[in-house]
Amino acid sequence: MIPAQCIILIRGKCYVAPRHIVQRLLPDASEAILIMNQPEALYRLQEVELEIMRTQQRLKQIADTLANDETVQQAQNQVTAAQNQLNPLKSRLRELEHEIQTNESKTRTTEQQLYSGTVKNTKEMQDMQQEIEALKRWHGELETSLLETMMSTEEAETVLQQKEADLSAVLDTRGDEHRVLLQEQAELQAQLSAAKERRQQALKEVNPENLEIYVTMKPRKNYQPVAIMQGNTCSVCGVAQNVAIEREVRRGTQLVNCSNCQRILVTI
Ligand SMILES: [Zn+2]
Repeated sequence: MIPAQCIILIRGKCYVAPRHIVQRLLPDASEAILIMNQPEALYRLQEVELEIMRTQQRLKQIADTLANDETVQQAQNQVTAAQNQLNPLKSRLRELEHEIQTNESKTRTTEQQLYSGTVKNTKEMQDMQQEIEALKRWHGELETSLLETMMSTEEAETVLQQKEADLSAVLDTRGDEHRVLLQEQAELQAQLSAAKERRQQALKEVNPENLEIYVTMKPRKNYQPVAIMQGNTCSVCGVAQNVAIEREVRRGTQLVNCSNCQRILVTI
């Protein structure tokens, strides 16, 4: 890639020339003899650094999303809540079934005793009869509770099934989303290491004192200390430059600042 403005060495002498002249002079120009002008070198450095920043920001977003998925968390919580509703009902159901069995066997035993003819005492027989009646009343109450608990259990089971289906649906879409994010993450990581290599190359084109100026300006200029001049206008702040500045920017032999925002101007 031949820069818009080049300093070219021809037979040991330096010339500043625009790209189309260089291309005509040196149709097979190798980059080795083209020294990139400093504003353009800084602009390329800035662009690759902005790309690195954007890539790193997106990578962080992806990492956060993957680590902390609220929708999955909520669906999971609802399943847990439904399980917490269902489990005590199931225990209650088992308890009631057991109580009913105990009640029935107690009733059977008492009836057997009563009708076996072994108990002759009337008072004792009356007591046993009363006990049987009480056990049967209690049996009726237990049956009612059992029925109610069975209905509640069925409802809770339906809710749990619904919540589990919801969670599984969320996980299915997340499966896709996560897959897409993981793919994007891999691509961005490859782009990032390529961009870091390009940054090393771009750094080689910048001389140390210009690099210092650029680095100092960077935080004050929102990481964008270099601005393209379009026509005679700074593309960042939109202010037109006077003829002298415009001419110097087009020559590209030194760093020229925008008369308004102070950014280094460059023509590409
Ligand atoms: Zn400006």
